[in-house]
Amino acid sequence: MKTVIFATGNQNKLKEIREIMADIPDVRIVSMKEAGIEADIVENGNTFEENARIKAEAVSGISGEIVLADDSGLVIDALNGEPGIFSARYMGEDTSYHIKNNELIRRLDGVPDEDRTARFVCAVAAAVPGKGTYVVRGVMEGRIGYEEKGVNGFGYDPIFFLPSYGKTSAEIPPEEKNRISHRGKALRAVREVLVEEGIL
Ligand code: IMP
Repeated sequence: MKTVIFATGNQNKLKEIREIMADIPDVRIVSMKEAGIEADIVENGNTFEENARIKAEAVSGISGEIVLADDSGLVIDALNGEPGIFSARYMGEDTSYHIKNNELIRRLDGVPDEDRTARFVCAVAAAVPGKGTYVVRGVMEGRIGYEEKGVNGFGYDPIFFLPSYGKTSAEIPPEEKNRISHRGKALRAVREVLVEEGIL
């Protein structure tokens, strides 16, 4: 049995990766807590990829196991890529997303539809002892809306309009979002790399 640690405390992410890896035999995916690892890692990279790599390599260094880590955020073109890697910290970690979302809408005041393009980005790094680190990226394209809509999802989902659905990512069912999301794509991409390389 191979152990893969997913460097997250988020149960939803753990569930998603377990579902994606479910058909690979003899692999068990555990959280950092389940692996008995406590680490306060400073994510001081300049890109999603760097931050995912920093996390994965730090936890792999401590545990000696294969470690997956992700870093994600919202990139808004008209705001020069903000909030980007600072998505969780934007306006302060404790500020509600209702306030953050409305501030972003306010900052886009007067920006026409075609210039409201944005994307959710997710980088996933897999640190493999003795083999190095593989990093992949998944993207979900959309536009920033004019008001919050929908109650599914979390964070910036209520203002993230998906033109092909005519809905925000907070209005589509969670299973549908997993199918098209940045994180779903990146997790499936990392799975493919690990299987192709004969690691899992
Ligand atoms: P983390 O990489 O999981 O810590 O996510 C960083 C931040 O990006 C989150 O706290 C959210 O603000 C934002 N974010 C990432 N993915 C999503 C998403 O699917 N929906 C809404 N917000 C997201």
